[in-house]
Amino acid sequence: MAAIFMLAACSSNRELRKTNFKKPKNIIMLIGDGMGLTQVSTTYYYQDEPSNFSRFKHIGLHQNMPTSHKVTDSASGATAFSAGVKTYNGAIGVDQDTTPVPTLLEMLAADGWKTGVIATSSIVHATPASFYAHTASRNNLEEIARQLVYAPVDFFAGGGLQFFTERSDELNYVDSLSREGFQVNTTILAPAKLDIKKKHAFLLAADGMPKMQEGRGDFLPKATQMALDYLSHDKDGFFLMVEGSQIDWGGHANDASYVIQETRDFDKAIGLALDFAATDRNTLVVVTADHETGGMSLSAATIFGQGDYTKITPSFSTGNHSAALAPVFAYGPGAEHFMGIYQNNDIFNKMVLALKMKSVRRPGTKL
Ligand SMILES: [Zn+2]
Repeated sequence: MAAIFMLAACSSNRELRKTNFKKPKNIIMLIGDGMGLTQVSTTYYYQDEPSNFSRFKHIGLHQNMPTSHKVTDSASGATAFSAGVKTYNGAIGVDQDTTPVPTLLEMLAADGWKTGVIATSSIVHATPASFYAHTASRNNLEEIARQLVYAPVDFFAGGGLQFFTERSDELNYVDSLSREGFQVNTTILAPAKLDIKKKHAFLLAADGMPKMQEGRGDFLPKATQMALDYLSHDKDGFFLMVEGSQIDWGGHANDASYVIQETRDFDKAIGLALDFAATDRNTLVVVTADHETGGMSLSAATIFGQGDYTKITPSFSTGNHSAALAPVFAYGPGAEHFMGIYQNNDIFNKMVLALKMKSVRRPGTKL
């Protein structure tokens, strides 16, 4: 199946008048890597502030089985969201035949939208990479870094500096970023107000960003607000992807405190996205997870062999991913499309539907 989507054109005004649904001017997609319903539930039991998840009215579930396995990884999971195809574990922006598939970020950028990508992992890690890169394996980290330099991304923030500067080809891709019009910062997330005439790159760790437990602080909410301020200057709209990457890593480590702190941090970023969308009234916010990690449960505690229902003891059933359906939360114009139970690649289709874009399948088309 070498078919790929090509954007033809936005709907004409005449077509738009036929429907009552308003189309969003901006999309903010937030992905909690490894964030199943249990991880979401921790924001109701382990923080004083109200959970931002309660602000959503349109909620759904998606099944995330890839073409190669029963249980998905982050690469095929994110490629389903970014490009609308079911593919194999490890695939970055390519279909199951390794044919590159245009991503929504690329389609919207071609239409004049500004774009941003934020992660608490390395910025070349599987989830963020699937929005701007095309390569047969998530392990091709240096190639993904090279592709990011030339991708239609205006703002990015995360870790991964080593894949730009300590490369087997001995090239310095931080210099290349500067040549491509990026203001590059490798030390600090500042200034808060960015020069809107430049592109901006923040590479603030060699590989992944520190854990919240290690003092990452407010990097994720701050980068999210910074990106929203910068990207919203453009009148043509923007697409921003924000990943809470390390919810997954806490799940792999079966470390409940790690999961809880990373999910709380992600919840703050969601709050800022919703605040922006509530004021703007023209922004679709979609929050989901690629998969659940850890088979995590908020179990009742067991004391002397008996259930103690006054206490929760988080537990895990695996150090790997699980196949549980993943939650989807939507807000803003087009949010109604995200209700129900569907496949992970339908999230791409629903964003396309919300935007009233015309998608055309063109078998064998090259990028
Ligand atoms: Zn994982």
